[in-house]
Amino acid sequence: MTTTPSTLILLGGSGDLSSRLLLPALGQLVMQQPKRQVQLIGVGSDEMSDDDWRDLVRSSFSTTDASGEGVDALLAGTSYFAADVTKVDDIKKVLDAASGVPALYFALPPSVTLKACQAMESIDLPDGTVLAMEKPFGVDEDSARNLNEQLLKLVPEESVHRVDHFLGHATVLNLLGLRFANRIVEPLWTAEHIDSVEIVYDEQLGLEGRAGYYDNAGALVDMIQSHLLQVLSVFAMEPPATIDAVDLRDAKAAVLRATRVYGGDPTTASHRARYTAGTVAGRTFPSYVDEKGVDPSHNTETLAQVTFEVDNWRWAGVPFTLRSGKAIGTRRREIVVTFKSAQHVPGGFKGSADPDVLRIALAPDEMSLEININGPGDPHVLDRATLEAEFGPGELKAYGEVLESILDGDPSLSVRGDSAVQMWRIVAPVIEAWKKDEVPLQEYETGSEGPADWTVPGR
Ligand code: NDP
Repeated sequence: MTTTPSTLILLGGSGDLSSRLLLPALGQLVMQQPKRQVQLIGVGSDEMSDDDWRDLVRSSFSTTDASGEGVDALLAGTSYFAADVTKVDDIKKVLDAASGVPALYFALPPSVTLKACQAMESIDLPDGTVLAMEKPFGVDEDSARNLNEQLLKLVPEESVHRVDHFLGHATVLNLLGLRFANRIVEPLWTAEHIDSVEIVYDEQLGLEGRAGYYDNAGALVDMIQSHLLQVLSVFAMEPPATIDAVDLRDAKAAVLRATRVYGGDPTTASHRARYTAGTVAGRTFPSYVDEKGVDPSHNTETLAQVTFEVDNWRWAGVPFTLRSGKAIGTRRREIVVTFKSAQHVPGGFKGSADPDVLRIALAPDEMSLEININGPGDPHVLDRATLEAEFGPGELKAYGEVLESILDGDPSLSVRGDSAVQMWRIVAPVIEAWKKDEVPLQEYETGSEGPADWTVPGR
């Protein structure tokens, strides 16, 4: 046996995450890397024949047009087990079918994941076994810490992949090259030169049939507590010695330890709202509270905005505003870096020298820099110019990158246990203030840009 996983066991293989995101990404991965021999085992609680499972996998693969020898080999060797993964004997039965080192991907409801991990305590897992955990990783600091302890009873920390597929987005990975391979970028990446940072993930989409999950999470936990804080940690990290898993995750963890709600006051640094009926991108949504599966008493927000500060030498005082919403008029997925104004503009120029703005789009993968120049015509008049670049998409989609790193046994793209706890610590004061209704739950019309009166502290 090699020590990197070659058997991917999808616990919850029949579920939504597997069929919509994991299997299509796996198809793309084995199409691009046909020499990678992957045995796929699907597991669910309901009965399904191997043929029906193969059809499910094939139809998921077709969404990414995956084909070729790697795909054929995988399909020929895949099998399905109906098992209750909270039972020791059932897990053993699944593990016995693995021909190589297993990577167990927990695409399960979180409560089932915890019980499955508890059941695994009595099983001697093969050396090199990887455990891939989906979000949400716990529901607060204590539960995340307990889950960490549970996992460490099974495998070492570097074999736990706490998945955050945002870390597989090409642009998030590109942040490292942009920052650390350019002489003109890194010296400006400090509070001395940067006025504010916004990390925005606004969608035109609504609940898309996932009310059961979303109505218990909301925009804060679904996006800010997880994905956007991870993007912040990559954006703000100190230069790592190397970009291997140890150095990268150390650098990210140091940022998260220094991150807190701006000014320590969630009543001024956070906002929440939910959509009312309206139309966006040609689709009409009812008010959030009237959506099927929503319990209005949960007071779930569909748009959240929180400003944080990274309280260290490099970033002290810079507001980092993280925002994400559903049913928003404009789809925006970007990091916006607003620089401080030029230190001194020589006398004689006309027009204003607005601050430079760097926009790094998370999808599509683009970057632009808005700067002041002497424009055409009167050379004394300052004009605005935009330099734009497109980086083509990554070779793999985000979940493809995640699966590749799991099968390589490389945890660089996963969230380390201490960081998973920190991320709950960072948002805890906001959750607390919202529970106590200290921050009003506002409304915005579907298709609008959110409540107009929201402001960013520190600006
Ligand atoms: P689903 O409810 O669609 O799927 C759950 C899966 O778990 C099914 O395959 C189900 O099998 C299986 N399952 C449940 N209990 C058991 C058990 N005791 N033994 C064996 N299998 C069991 O959930 P999702 O796919 O939506 O979500 C899975 C995880 O991924 C969750 O943690 C979620 O938070 C996370 N996630 C989901 C995303 C998504 O877009 N769906 C996005 C990001 C994260 P069966 O159907 O046979 O009962």
